[in-house]
Amino acid sequence: MSAPQQLLILGATGSVGMSTLAVVAEHPDRYRVYALTAYNRVELAEQLCRQFQPQYFVMVDPVAAERLRSAISDLQTEVLSGTAALVEVAREPEVTMVMAAIVGAAGLAPTLAAVEAGKIVLLANKESLVMAGQLFMDAVVRHGGQLLPIDSEQNAMFQSLPNFRIGQPLTDLGVLRLWLTASGGPFLDRPVDTLAQVTPAEACAHPNWDMGKKISVDSATMMNKGLEVIETAWFFGVGGDQIEVVIHPQSIVHSLVEYCDGSILSQLGSADMRIPIAHALAWPERIHSGAARLDLRELADLQFQTIDNDKFPCLGLAYSALAEGGLAATYMNAANEIAVQAFLEEKLGFLQIPALVSEVLSQLPSNEATDLDSVVAADEEARRLARRLVDRQ
Ligand code: NAD
Ligand code: MG
Repeated sequence: MSAPQQLLILGATGSVGMSTLAVVAEHPDRYRVYALTAYNRVELAEQLCRQFQPQYFVMVDPVAAERLRSAISDLQTEVLSGTAALVEVAREPEVTMVMAAIVGAAGLAPTLAAVEAGKIVLLANKESLVMAGQLFMDAVVRHGGQLLPIDSEQNAMFQSLPNFRIGQPLTDLGVLRLWLTASGGPFLDRPVDTLAQVTPAEACAHPNWDMGKKISVDSATMMNKGLEVIETAWFFGVGGDQIEVVIHPQSIVHSLVEYCDGSILSQLGSADMRIPIAHALAWPERIHSGAARLDLRELADLQFQTIDNDKFPCLGLAYSALAEGGLAATYMNAANEIAVQAFLEEKLGFLQIPALVSEVLSQLPSNEATDLDSVVAADEEARRLARRLVDRQ
């Protein structure tokens, strides 16, 4: 057996990070946890350091880092802090594989650094591709590392495209369309005229998946599916016109690929992120994930429905931003992050999330994204504008 992968998990204390550690813990011969990162959760970080004994733990918040340092002074783990340390650890020569599971724009710099260092990158942080799709995919091709999708839908498409290599046109493989399934989130059947009053707790109560708060709210507004349309476009090199979104409330069929001969291939599984995570960790081999098995005889009907675009305007905003190109998706992502945060803090109503994103997009010019600095500057500009719009509420 080959040497174990030396794994860095960016965002280890989050939902995807913890699911990754759950899979890794079952396969100590294949994966060594070399480094972990978190924002500020000290108690959980201490527990992870004791269990996995990483070489480094990056705690972004310096106060939390100091607390972690004294809590684990009996261990060999070195505690680093600050955002620059995320990038440094992503470039660390010992690291062979990186799980990119930080939420939001904060994930871009370390994930891109891992790509540029030629690591095997397991991409959960979809916001990286939304913000900087062209730069990101150019870097993947230029540095020749392997990029594997963790988002369950893109992972399902990847599994349904056995001959796909990044950069290769899907038309060469006879692909007509990619079908992106969406559960519809917690408000699929809720009348639109009651959505103005929904609370953060209601928006975070996803019917099928247990996820971090930001992506849960994104699922409720359908911005998550919008982000995934853009993620799909960049990852597989297709236009928005080749991506269809279909509501599938059971979250069993995780997305589909339609070929020109009329075949449609898909990946099915229970709604458990350990499945795509195990797939990407072991690719092209297979390992046990620990997830519940599907018994097709026990499945209720699988349904597929058309999405109500008027009820969920975020999806249309994402298709438009993708078509516009340049920095439009960067602005959209930044405005959405501010709007979701304000909604979680009860400073903004649920229906004001798409309204605010739309307002930011209409006010900012969509210049080209020339380099990482221009993306970061655009992200900051959109955040400033979005915060002003929140304060005006
Ligand atoms: P989460 O909120 O549960 O965890 C986020 C992680 O990022 C935590 O470890 C946190 O400490 C860290 N973090 C937060 N802000 C940070 C900052 N400013 N700097 C550095 N680290 C920071 O999020 P999650 O649900 O695990 O999602 C992570 C990513 O994976 C997101 O991009 C999400 O869209 C994507 N994703 C998640 C799921 C899921 O099932 N949770 C599914 C598909 C894709
Ligand atoms: Mg998804």
